[in-house]
Amino acid sequence: LRIVLLGPPGAGKGTQAALLKEKFGIPHISTGEIFREEIEKGSALGIRIREFVSKGILVPDEIVVEVVKNRLSASDCINGWILDGFPRTLNQAKLLDKILQNMEQKIDIAIYIDVPEEEAIRRLLSRGRGDDKICTLKRRFKEYLNKTAPVIEYYKEKGLLVMINGVGSIEEVHLRILNALKEKRIIN
Ligand code: AMP
Repeated sequence: LRIVLLGPPGAGKGTQAALLKEKFGIPHISTGEIFREEIEKGSALGIRIREFVSKGILVPDEIVVEVVKNRLSASDCINGWILDGFPRTLNQAKLLDKILQNMEQKIDIAIYIDVPEEEAIRRLLSRGRGDDKICTLKRRFKEYLNKTAPVIEYYKEKGLLVMINGVGSIEEVHLRILNALKEKRIIN
Protein backbone atom coordinates (compact mmCIF):
# COMPACT_ATOMS: atom_id res chain seq x y z
CA LEU A 1 0.00 0.00 0.00
CA ARG A 2 1.70 3.17 -1.21
CA ILE A 3 -0.03 6.40 -0.38
CA VAL A 4 0.86 10.03 -1.06
CA LEU A 5 -0.93 12.50 1.22
CA LEU A 6 -1.41 16.00 -0.14
CA GLY A 7 -3.05 19.12 1.22
CA PRO A 8 -2.27 22.56 2.60
CA PRO A 9 -0.42 23.05 5.89
CA GLY A 10 -2.95 22.33 8.64
CA ALA A 11 -5.03 19.90 6.57
CA GLY A 12 -4.33 17.10 9.04
CA LYS A 13 -1.94 15.06 6.87
CA GLY A 14 0.27 14.08 9.81
CA THR A 15 -2.69 13.06 11.97
CA GLN A 16 -4.26 10.98 9.21
CA ALA A 17 -0.92 9.44 8.25
CA ALA A 18 -0.43 8.28 11.85
CA LEU A 19 -3.84 6.53 11.77
CA LEU A 20 -3.06 4.85 8.45
CA LYS A 21 0.30 3.70 9.78
CA GLU A 22 -1.46 2.16 12.77
CA LYS A 23 -4.11 0.46 10.64
CA PHE A 24 -1.90 -0.92 7.89
CA GLY A 25 1.42 -1.34 9.68
CA ILE A 26 3.40 0.63 7.13
CA PRO A 27 5.80 3.50 7.88
CA HIS A 28 4.70 7.11 7.95
CA ILE A 29 7.33 9.15 6.19
CA SER A 30 7.12 12.87 6.91
CA THR A 31 9.91 14.91 5.35
CA GLY A 32 9.07 17.80 7.70
CA GLU A 33 9.44 15.45 10.70
CA ILE A 34 12.75 14.08 9.39
CA PHE A 35 14.01 17.64 8.92
CA ARG A 36 12.95 18.73 12.42
CA GLU A 37 14.76 15.73 13.91
CA GLU A 38 17.94 16.49 11.96
CA ILE A 39 17.81 20.14 13.05
CA GLU A 40 17.31 19.02 16.64
CA LYS A 41 20.30 16.67 16.40
CA GLY A 42 22.44 19.38 14.82
CA SER A 43 23.53 16.97 12.07
CA ALA A 44 25.23 18.17 8.87
CA LEU A 45 21.89 17.84 7.09
CA GLY A 46 20.15 19.71 9.90
CA ILE A 47 22.57 22.60 9.60
CA ARG A 48 22.06 22.78 5.81
CA ILE A 49 18.29 22.98 6.05
CA ARG A 50 17.46 24.80 9.28
CA GLU A 51 17.22 28.27 7.72
CA PHE A 52 14.71 27.10 5.13
CA VAL A 53 12.55 25.28 7.65
CA SER A 54 12.54 28.08 10.22
CA LYS A 55 11.48 30.59 7.54
CA GLY A 56 8.80 28.37 6.04
CA ILE A 57 10.62 28.13 2.70
CA LEU A 58 10.84 24.85 0.82
CA VAL A 59 14.10 22.96 1.20
CA PRO A 60 15.84 22.57 -2.21
CA ASP A 61 14.58 19.59 -4.22
CA GLU A 62 17.94 17.83 -4.47
CA ILE A 63 18.27 17.67 -0.68
CA VAL A 64 14.71 16.50 -0.09
CA VAL A 65 14.81 13.90 -2.84
CA GLU A 66 18.06 12.40 -1.50
CA VAL A 67 16.50 12.08 1.96
CA VAL A 68 13.36 10.40 0.58
CA LYS A 69 15.34 8.06 -1.67
CA ASN A 70 17.34 6.81 1.31
CA ARG A 71 14.27 6.45 3.47
CA LEU A 72 12.32 4.49 0.84
CA SER A 73 15.17 2.02 0.43
CA ALA A 74 15.00 1.00 4.12
CA SER A 75 13.74 -2.54 4.74
CA ASP A 76 10.55 -1.43 6.54
CA CYS A 77 9.31 0.18 3.31
CA ILE A 78 9.07 -3.05 1.32
CA ASN A 79 5.32 -3.52 1.87
CA GLY A 80 4.39 0.11 1.50
CA TRP A 81 4.50 3.55 3.02
CA ILE A 82 2.62 6.77 3.56
CA LEU A 83 4.34 9.87 2.26
CA ASP A 84 3.31 13.01 4.13
CA GLY A 85 4.56 16.39 2.95
CA PHE A 86 6.37 14.98 -0.07
CA PRO A 87 6.28 15.61 -3.01
CA ARG A 88 5.81 19.36 -2.64
CA THR A 89 6.95 20.47 -6.12
CA LEU A 90 6.30 19.11 -9.61
CA ASN A 91 10.00 18.35 -9.90
CA GLN A 92 9.91 16.31 -6.67
CA ALA A 93 6.88 14.39 -8.01
CA LYS A 94 8.71 13.52 -11.22
CA LEU A 95 11.87 12.54 -9.36
CA LEU A 96 9.79 10.35 -7.04
CA ASP A 97 8.42 8.54 -10.11
CA LYS A 98 11.97 7.84 -11.24
CA ILE A 99 12.99 6.53 -7.82
CA LEU A 100 9.94 4.26 -7.72
CA GLN A 101 10.51 3.07 -11.27
CA ASN A 102 14.00 1.93 -10.28
CA MET A 103 12.53 0.13 -7.29
CA GLU A 104 9.74 -1.38 -9.44
CA GLN A 105 7.14 0.21 -7.22
CA LYS A 106 4.07 2.33 -7.93
CA ILE A 107 1.98 4.86 -6.04
CA ASP A 108 -1.50 3.39 -5.40
CA ILE A 109 -3.27 6.63 -4.57
CA ALA A 110 -2.68 10.33 -3.97
CA ILE A 111 -5.10 11.60 -1.35
CA TYR A 112 -5.77 15.30 -1.27
CA ILE A 113 -7.14 16.44 2.10
CA ASP A 114 -9.13 19.55 1.40
CA VAL A 115 -9.49 22.17 4.14
CA PRO A 116 -10.31 25.88 3.68
CA GLU A 117 -7.40 28.18 4.46
CA GLU A 118 -9.11 29.87 7.46
CA GLU A 119 -9.76 26.50 9.09
CA ALA A 120 -6.18 25.34 8.39
CA ILE A 121 -4.69 28.50 9.89
CA ARG A 122 -6.93 28.17 12.94
CA ARG A 123 -5.68 24.59 13.50
CA LEU A 124 -2.03 25.55 12.98
CA LEU A 125 -2.15 28.43 15.42
CA SER A 126 -3.62 26.16 18.08
CA ARG A 127 -0.85 23.57 17.46
CA GLY A 128 1.93 26.09 18.09
CA ARG A 129 4.96 24.37 16.51
CA GLY A 130 8.16 26.44 16.10
CA ASP A 131 7.36 27.32 12.47
CA ASP A 132 3.66 27.96 13.18
CA LYS A 133 4.04 31.71 13.81
CA ILE A 134 1.59 33.74 11.73
CA CYS A 135 4.22 35.28 9.39
CA THR A 136 5.92 31.92 8.75
CA LEU A 137 2.52 30.36 8.21
CA LYS A 138 1.70 32.89 5.51
CA ARG A 139 4.99 32.01 3.81
CA ARG A 140 4.19 28.32 3.99
CA PHE A 141 0.78 28.89 2.41
CA LYS A 142 2.32 30.98 -0.33
CA GLU A 143 4.89 28.26 -1.03
CA TYR A 144 2.06 25.76 -1.05
CA LEU A 145 -0.07 27.68 -3.56
CA ASN A 146 2.85 28.48 -5.86
CA LYS A 147 4.73 25.22 -5.80
CA THR A 148 2.49 22.43 -4.59
CA ALA A 149 -0.69 23.15 -6.55
CA PRO A 150 0.89 21.77 -9.79
CA VAL A 151 1.57 18.47 -7.98
CA ILE A 152 -2.19 18.02 -7.49
CA GLU A 153 -2.78 18.51 -11.20
CA TYR A 154 0.01 16.02 -11.98
CA TYR A 155 -1.62 13.24 -9.96
CA LYS A 156 -5.05 14.13 -11.32
CA GLU A 157 -3.79 13.60 -14.85
CA LYS A 158 -2.34 10.24 -13.86
CA GLY A 159 -5.73 9.19 -12.45
CA LEU A 160 -4.26 8.75 -8.97
CA LEU A 161 -5.90 11.69 -7.22
CA VAL A 162 -8.77 11.41 -4.77
CA MET A 163 -10.17 14.48 -3.01
CA ILE A 164 -11.23 14.08 0.61
CA ASN A 165 -13.17 16.61 2.64
CA GLY A 166 -10.83 17.38 5.54
CA VAL A 167 -13.38 19.26 7.64
CA GLY A 168 -14.81 17.18 10.47
CA SER A 169 -13.51 15.05 13.31
CA ILE A 170 -10.26 13.08 12.97
CA GLU A 171 -12.27 9.85 12.89
CA GLU A 172 -14.66 11.15 10.23
CA VAL A 173 -11.83 12.14 7.93
CA HIS A 174 -10.11 8.79 8.58
CA LEU A 175 -13.29 6.94 7.53
CA ARG A 176 -13.53 9.04 4.36
CA ILE A 177 -9.99 8.00 3.49
CA LEU A 178 -10.73 4.32 4.12
CA ASN A 179 -13.84 4.61 1.92
CA ALA A 180 -11.78 6.14 -0.86
CA LEU A 181 -9.32 3.23 -0.63
CA LYS A 182 -12.25 0.80 -0.85
CA GLU A 183 -13.86 2.58 -3.77
CA LYS A 184 -10.60 2.40 -5.69
CA ARG A 185 -10.38 -1.31 -4.72
CA ILE A 186 -7.03 -0.74 -3.04
CA ILE A 187 -8.34 -2.39 0.14
CA ASN A 188 -11.36 -4.66 0.77
P1 AMP B 1 5.82 20.05 7.28
O1 AMP B 1 6.11 19.35 8.57
O2 AMP B 1 5.42 19.10 6.19
O3 AMP B 1 4.84 21.17 7.44
O4 AMP B 1 7.20 20.70 6.80
C1 AMP B 1 7.86 21.70 7.57
C2 AMP B 1 8.92 22.40 6.72
O5 AMP B 1 9.89 21.44 6.25
C3 AMP B 1 8.39 23.06 5.45
O6 AMP B 1 7.90 24.37 5.71
C4 AMP B 1 9.65 23.08 4.58
O7 AMP B 1 10.55 24.10 5.00
C5 AMP B 1 10.30 21.75 4.91
N1 AMP B 1 9.83 20.66 4.03
C6 AMP B 1 9.11 19.56 4.41
N2 AMP B 1 8.85 18.76 3.35
C7 AMP B 1 9.39 19.37 2.27
C8 AMP B 1 9.45 19.05 0.89
N3 AMP B 1 8.86 17.95 0.38
N4 AMP B 1 10.10 19.92 0.07
C9 AMP B 1 10.69 21.02 0.55
N5 AMP B 1 10.67 21.39 1.83
C10 AMP B 1 10.03 20.57 2.70
